[in-house]
Parts: sequence; C-alpha cells; structure tokens
Amino acid sequence: MKPQLLEETFINAEEFFKKLEKNKNPSAAHIRQIIAKSLDVNTLSLDEVASLINLEDSDLWEEIFDAALKIKKKVYDNRIVTFAPLYCSNYCINNCIYCGFRKSNIFVERKVLGLEEIKAETEVLAGKIGHKRLIVVFGEHPQYSNINYIAEAIRTIYSVKVKTKNSYSSIRRVNVNAQPLTVEELKILKEVGIGTYQVFQETYHPDTYFRLHPQNTPKSDYIFRLYSMHRAQEAGIDDVGIGVLFGLYDWRFEVLGLVAHAIELEKEYGVGPHTISFPRLEPAFNTPFVDKTPYKVNDADMKKIIAIIRLAVPYTGMIITARETKEFRDEMIRIGITQTDASSKISIGGYSQGYTQQSPQIQQFILGDTRSLVELVRDLAKQGYITSFCTAGYRCGRTGDKIMELLKCGKEALFCKLNAILTFKEWVDDFADDETKIVALRLIDKEINEVKEKYPNLYDHFINYYQRIAAGERDLYF
Ligand code: SAM
Ligand code: SF4
Repeated sequence: MKPQLLEETFINAEEFFKKLEKNKNPSAAHIRQIIAKSLDVNTLSLDEVASLINLEDSDLWEEIFDAALKIKKKVYDNRIVTFAPLYCSNYCINNCIYCGFRKSNIFVERKVLGLEEIKAETEVLAGKIGHKRLIVVFGEHPQYSNINYIAEAIRTIYSVKVKTKNSYSSIRRVNVNAQPLTVEELKILKEVGIGTYQVFQETYHPDTYFRLHPQNTPKSDYIFRLYSMHRAQEAGIDDVGIGVLFGLYDWRFEVLGLVAHAIELEKEYGVGPHTISFPRLEPAFNTPFVDKTPYKVNDADMKKIIAIIRLAVPYTGMIITARETKEFRDEMIRIGITQTDASSKISIGGYSQGYTQQSPQIQQFILGDTRSLVELVRDLAKQGYITSFCTAGYRCGRTGDKIMELLKCGKEALFCKLNAILTFKEWVDDFADDETKIVALRLIDKEINEVKEKYPNLYDHFINYYQRIAAGERDLYF
C-alpha cells in the first residue's frame, strides 16, 4: 500500500506550484461560485483552493469569513468541543529542529509517567477540572513510548472514575498524538478504545521535510508519516486527525497539502479527516530555529488559512490550541474552529505536580493562553457559544463514513446541539463557579427553547434526559 517513491504519493509539489500559478487573479464570480459550493458542504478541488489562496480583494475576503461561519453553524451548530492535552513522555529519539523535546536538546528535563502518575494526572483532569476528552501526547522512543506503553496509558486513563459534588466524572474519549505506527500497532490502539489518531505531517513540502528531520532518525521517513492515516483506516480506526506545523514552509503550499490529504482519504476510504489541526510554531526552550524560520505565519494569514480550510473541507472538525492567545482563539472560533483546549499543561506530570503553566525546561513549547477551563467556558458562554463535552459520536458508532454523511447533510448538528446541552449541564452542575453558573444557565435556557422550537418531536425525550442529569445521573446522550 505504501508507495516507495515520492512521485507515487498524493503530494505532487510541482503540480501544487503550477496550480498556484494558474489560478492567479480569480474573478469575483468565480470566488462566489466556490463559496456557494462550500455552503452546500462539498469538498473543494485543489484548483478552487488555489484560487482562494490567491485572492487579494479584501471585500471578497469578508464574504469568505462570513461564509466560513455559516458553514460551521450548519455542520456543527454553535458549540465548541473542549479537551486537554496529557503529555506522558518527553523522551525522544528524533531531532526535529523546531521541537524542544528533540534528542539533541540536552538541557530539557526528561520524564516518562508511570501508570500511577498517569492515574494522578487523570484524577485532576477528570475530577477537579472536569474534562471528558483528552489528547495524549508522546515523544517517540522504543523504550519509553512504545505501543504497549501507549495502550496501557489509554487503559489507565479510562479506568479512572472520580467522585464529584453531584455525581462522578471520568474521561470518555482518549485521542492520541504519537509517532506513525504500523497497522498491527494501530489495531492494538483500536482495541483499547482510541478516539482520534492524530499525526501531523509538519510540512508537506518534501525538501523542507528532509531538511528539518535529520536522516538518521525515524521521523525522516516522509512517506511512512504521510501514509499514517491510510494505515489507521486499514487497522479499523476511522477517526483520524491531520495537521501542519505552520511556520516551517510557505503556508500556501501547506494548505494545498492538507486539502490533497483530505481528498486522498475521501477517495480511498470514503472518509476524510475527522479533524484538522492548526499548530503554529511557538518558541521552545533552547530551540533557536523558531526565531530563524523565514516562513512564520502572521495572524492575518493564519485567519485566511483557517477560513480556506473551513470552506475546502467543510465537514471536518477544526482544532486550535492554547499555543495561541485568547484574542486570536476567540477570533478563529468566529470563522471556523470547532475544538479547543483549556487548563492545558504541556509539561510531563504538570497537572498533579502543580508545575506552573510555564516551566520551559520540561515542556515542549511556550503556551499563548493559560486560561482555566472555567474561564474558557465563561468567556465562550458570554459570546453565545456552548462548550460541549460530548463524546457520544464514537461510542454509538457515529464515526468514519457514517458521521461523514451526517455532517455533510447537516444532521450531525442536531446531535451536536442536544449532546452539547446535556454534557454542558453535567459540567456546570459539577464544576462551575457561581459567576460561570449564571452565564451558563442563561445560555442553556436559550438553547432549550431552540430545541423546543426546532425539534418538537425530540423535545420530550431530550427534556427527560436533561432532568435526569439535573438529578445527578450522568452520561446520557443521543
Ligand atoms: N512525537 C510525535 C510526533 O512528532 O509526531 C507526537 C508528539 S509531538 C510532541 C506533537 C506535535 O507538536 C508535533 O507533531 C508538532 O507539530 C508540534 N510541535 C513541535 N514543536 C513545536 C513548536 N516549537 N511549536 C508548536 N508546535 C510544535
Ligand atoms: Fe520528538 Fe515529536 Fe518533538 Fe519531533 S516533534 S522531537 S518526534 S516529540
């Protein structure tokens, strides 16, 4: 399945450059046609994406930003899914020039969490903060983060159940960001109940990739990384997440790479990426490369990138993390982002050991937004966004091509709404402070009225679940 040669992959660098050249100066009529196609929840072609990339007219850009928000609302309603990262190990045999965890960075403190420590981290995340969804993150190391360790870490997290004020709390979905794995290894992750398997290509531009990932390291295998999601599908994992580390190469090329990846997965498996992530290069301890890259992406271009991907792959979940500042995250949520993290600590053992948010020698990079989950929920609620802790999709079979269909026809937005309200209510009752409660309950009332108006057939069923949750029952979902 894995091509042996670069020319045989779905990334054709020469073709990307030609498309960027060919689609210069797009007309307003053409841009509006593209917008209309996206509003109908259709994946765009690479030529169409190249036209958007080349657009300069600022009025038309405003139309694109408006359309991006409309698409997001149509597919996902007004909810933002939240999660937290859990870094299990920072031992790494790779030498990615941009990463604080690279092997040659001898000033970084190395640590791998034992299972008891993973339990302790989970107890804080699920029991004190109230998260229901984690992304577990690993450096690549044959001894410290092999497949058995990753699988045990996931099992341990799922086993933790913490008593709360009104009931109990546990992590219901564990997503994984780890090295590219083989089909056999991925089958083990499937067995232990992985949510989404995430691997970022970092850069789709082969020459840049080879330059930033030294040849004598496993990560230098561009093709093995590029086909990680194909292997995940072969192993039965159909929720996959892709991403680019923006700042390594020209963003125009990378956007075409992301869309080409989505088109390839749709073509091969009938299922595009469940999520696309938008990490942007951040300063890291003893990592001078970050200041030297000529490809840094500024906020204005990042906004365009996010809007283009919202239009190009309209069904996908889009993730922006606490790498970014509060102000920037708020703005991106207004044009297409559907998932974000909160209370994040990216040091090893940071939640239970109480490391400060910025302990640079033990964390991968420096965060831009250190808001707690309570603060994030309150800020979003004030803007009319409901924070969703929903993890229902993969637990009732709404994954892969099934969820893809529901997303495309707008039906998933209904499940999103109902489950967002129910899980939000759980969280508010268990974890919100008084100030947050007031804003949150006002929003919940508004949402319930909307359910009554828009979905009268489901209202009784929904209200029954809602009341049971208010009485302390947990984990009821559509
Ligand atoms: N080690 C695995 C890998 O590289 O695929 C997974 C974990 S790695 C810690 C997760 C992601 O962090 C990488 O894929 C990369 O995109 C991102 N990253 C690395 N250095 C970064 C930096 N300086 N700023 C922002 N993100 C960074
Ligand atoms: Fe290791 Fe991943 Fe960092 Fe590269 S990005 S050095 S593989 S942890």
